[in-house]
Amino acid sequence: MPDSTPASVDVVVVGGGLAGLAAARRLHRAGLDWVLLESADRLGGRVATDLVDGYRLDRGFQVLNTAYPRLAALVDLAALDLRFFTPGVLVRRGPDLIRLAASLRPGVLGASLGAASRLGTRLDLVRFAALVARYASLPPARLLDAPETTAEVALHQAGLSHAFVEELARPFLSGVLADRSLETSSHVLAMIVRSFARGRIAVPAAGMAALPEAVAAPLPAERLHTSARVGAVAPGSVSLVDGGVVRCRAVLVAAVTPLLPGVPEPRMHGLTTYYHTSPVPPLAEPTLLLDGDRRELVANTVVVSAAAPSYAPPGQALIATSVVGPSAPPEPVVRTELGRLYGVPVTQWSHLETVAIPAALPAAPPPQGRLRRPVSLGDGLFTAGDHRDSPSIQGALASGWRAAGAIVRSLRAEGARSAER
Ligand SMILES: Cc1cc2nc3c(=O)[nH]c(=O)nc-3n(C[C@H](O)[C@H](O)[C@H](O)COP(=O)(O)OP(=O)(O)OC[C@H]3O[C@@H](n4cnc5c(N)ncnc54)[C@H](O)[C@@H]3O)c2cc1C
Repeated sequence: MPDSTPASVDVVVVGGGLAGLAAARRLHRAGLDWVLLESADRLGGRVATDLVDGYRLDRGFQVLNTAYPRLAALVDLAALDLRFFTPGVLVRRGPDLIRLAASLRPGVLGASLGAASRLGTRLDLVRFAALVARYASLPPARLLDAPETTAEVALHQAGLSHAFVEELARPFLSGVLADRSLETSSHVLAMIVRSFARGRIAVPAAGMAALPEAVAAPLPAERLHTSARVGAVAPGSVSLVDGGVVRCRAVLVAAVTPLLPGVPEPRMHGLTTYYHTSPVPPLAEPTLLLDGDRRELVANTVVVSAAAPSYAPPGQALIATSVVGPSAPPEPVVRTELGRLYGVPVTQWSHLETVAIPAALPAAPPPQGRLRRPVSLGDGLFTAGDHRDSPSIQGALASGWRAAGAIVRSLRAEGARSAER
């Protein structure tokens, strides 16, 4: 145990991903004595950025959404110097590139309906617009109280044709949820589509790692311990694998881990990102490109540097391509697909890196209910993470914030009881 690790605190937070950091923010605001123990040598968990040959490679292509409510509450979005992607997507269908946007911003949806007549039928587009408008405008409580099914069934129940689901919804959602089967809960679907319609997707100019850094920034650095792996937790104590023990009134495990035997570990979906570079961007705009030809290999691809030039050295483009699953096809196979999707020669491209994340996102099949799994396990043990709310940055932040709220209330109630005695 590092010399600076305290022997006793009110709360130990295990895990320095977004959930643990959000929890620490609330514990700190409440004036509690806390320490955060993170096994890796850096904070941020699944949100990380590596610098490789002058490129910023997020550890798996991911974006934040400005409509995530907990994000805006914890971080000054303007200070992140966000670089935005185009609202909507482009879909490759044979020789055509079809643009489809579904946004509450005036004019965007109407323009899309006019242009996208080759994607599904006109009725599909009207029904799709109605579904997006419903998800975007109803209060979340109404959406989360609606009958729950899988995303696939919900899309068909909305009247969308098989072709529309296969050529647009499945490729888009498989990249967002890492779930090609669309077995994900319709409640998760509603909240994800709501965010896309109400907000904009972006990356910080410095890379996605700037996000956990911003969440951690107001916290005192001496309470954030990295390279501190927890080996066991019990009511009232946390043991580090190096032998140290921290006594506490409450423990929050903000990680998917076997540390809490009573909390089953969720099934995790994998994602693989292929990073390519090219002297000429294959697309001049920062727009997600989907495969509407049902080849089911590439979930989405995007010229990241078209949104964030800081992600690539001058004169080079950085292309990020997401494939569902951790054991993805060989790079030359993916590159050939990319040539077809972008409709450009790819012989000049270089393969920079393949980032395979076997445990990228927790599976969230029904029932997910109101996307709020219990965080209080009794005996002063608490848990948080995207697997307790929704599989997203918002889910991780909201879950950590909620769990810390439960801890604050529990310790205050405990304090009041001991004062009465
Ligand atoms: C490739 C990829 C793409 C994604 N795309 C998006 C996207 O576009 N939009 C979106 O909203 N979300 C996306 N996500 C999801 C998002 O990144 C996660 O939901 C979120 O980061 C999870 O945060 P967390 O704190 O719950 O978990 P984690 O980030 O996993 O944090 C848990 C932490 O606990 C630590 N830990 C584990 N065991 C121990 C131990 N024994 N002792 C001490 N520490 C321990 C781990 O090292 C880790 O740092 C993506 C994720 C990936 C991987």
